[in-house]
Amino acid sequence: MADPRGFLKFTREGPQRRPVELRVKDYKELYNPFEDEKLKVQGARCMDCGVPFCQSSTGCPVVNLIPEWNDLVHRGRWKDALKALHTTNNFPEFTGRLCPAPCESACVLGINSDPVSIRVIEWNIIDKGFEEGWVEPVLPVVSTGKKVAVVGSGPAGLAAAQQLARVGHQVTVLEKADRIGGLLRYGIPDFKMEKWVLDRRLEQMREEGVTFETSVCVGVDTNLDALRRDFDAVLLAMGAEQARELPVPGRELKGVHLAMDYLTQQNKRVAGDAIHEEEISAKGKRVVVIGGGDTGSDCLGTAHRQGCVEAHQFELLPEPPPTRAGSTPWPLWPMRLRTSHAHEEGCDREWSISTTKFSGENGHVTKLHTNRVVFEEGKIVPVSGSEMEMDADLVLLAMGFVGPVKNGLLDSLGLNYDARGNVGVDEHFMTNIDGVFASGDTKRGASLIVWAIAEGRKAAQGVHRYLQAGQSLRTP
Ligand SMILES: Cc1cc2nc3c(=O)[nH]c(=O)nc-3n(C[C@H](O)[C@H](O)[C@H](O)COP(=O)(O)OP(=O)(O)OC[C@H]3O[C@@H](n4cnc5c(N)ncnc54)[C@H](O)[C@@H]3O)c2cc1C
Ligand code: SF4
Repeated sequence: MADPRGFLKFTREGPQRRPVELRVKDYKELYNPFEDEKLKVQGARCMDCGVPFCQSSTGCPVVNLIPEWNDLVHRGRWKDALKALHTTNNFPEFTGRLCPAPCESACVLGINSDPVSIRVIEWNIIDKGFEEGWVEPVLPVVSTGKKVAVVGSGPAGLAAAQQLARVGHQVTVLEKADRIGGLLRYGIPDFKMEKWVLDRRLEQMREEGVTFETSVCVGVDTNLDALRRDFDAVLLAMGAEQARELPVPGRELKGVHLAMDYLTQQNKRVAGDAIHEEEISAKGKRVVVIGGGDTGSDCLGTAHRQGCVEAHQFELLPEPPPTRAGSTPWPLWPMRLRTSHAHEEGCDREWSISTTKFSGENGHVTKLHTNRVVFEEGKIVPVSGSEMEMDADLVLLAMGFVGPVKNGLLDSLGLNYDARGNVGVDEHFMTNIDGVFASGDTKRGASLIVWAIAEGRKAAQGVHRYLQAGQSLRTP
């Protein structure tokens, strides 16, 4: 245990965000560095619980060895902490920066105090590991001669590819976009994670023998039959890209866009790429984001950096309580009001609002028409007399994702879907087609990076078992 009285002596601390007026001028990451000495103190707050809920199934989907590395950081044994971290998580630099940290919501210390700063400790262990040159390729000791195709290069596909390459399979990742990374590349803005963080990990994977092929859309440029002929197993890790639509009058007006079209363009601009389609920008515009979740927050942060003149965010659901709702007691992920870095940068937030229509001039949106709603017996009911109008030049639809895109590849394959419309798998992550596996958002529906990594690892185990007739996957 780091320090038996640490949780009594020290209070929770973490890195500060850069001041709003500075950070909205660039796309660099939001946080200032946090000193090693302070991290050691934060590690000392961990109580090394007999039942560490932080790493339970509610706390951490990859079952990170959190009390172990908290203790190692407190003792300054960073290299050992890195080893413990990599035992369960291929990409702690992604989760350390981006995870909403259900581990902290489940931390026992959080029952009557502030939880341990687990995410920040994780983030600093891996960044130190890269800085010190401790993150090296892990080369397989044998070559199995088996070939695996991974369709999709988000965190699920990448985690599976790395696990499989490390046990000696020949892995090719096929990606329809022009760069590797899935939503890490073309969804999550640079101010949440700069893309060199992704590139340095991809370099390690290349050195470990993973082959990446970009601009290959499976179902268009090649098909599953060809993949099954050329590879011994196929893993579908194509995300859940089917956005929830808002089919109201005026949806076709210019200036009304899906969040992902908007966010992808900005990540391309930051990468120095030319935009070949119609440019979407918030510069000088009154922006309304429809959808109160994380994608909406990423749209707001982007709109601020592009120079919007007004930013509003509309959410259909009622405003959550300021503290943990009684319906989500510890150690569950708490339902409560969250104020993100983007809200801090300026935003007018409205809850219980339904958009009924867009209207415009010369084919371009100028107004949203809305009304207030209440939920009665599970149904959304408009409040009479609550109709409102809001001026807008740019409307971004960030209402979540309904599941994987089916009308291309998936429907043509005869795959079984689960009750929620995601690709169905057995306990080894194999679909109803022999040798074809699925993981991440394709299998689970839109979720989190940590779940994608967890499921990528589990699917890799399933693939390896299939290829090796019963062996379980063990990385060196
Ligand atoms: C804007 C936004 C912000 C988010 N922020 C966070 C966050 O801060 N923290 C967090 O934990 N989670 C966040 N998420 C959720 C998280 O990004 C996803 O849960 C995670 O990326 C899912 O990983 P995946 O590998 O399953 O799929 P994806 O990351 O979606 O990757 C799927 C890949 O498959 C490719 N593909 C699809 N079809 C084909 C095909 N036919 N052929 C070839 N390639 C194909 C796609 O182009 C894509 O690159 C965010 C999501 C969004 C949309
Ligand atoms: S639940 Fe919190 S205090 Fe307990 S072991 Fe995990 S991080 Fe440490």
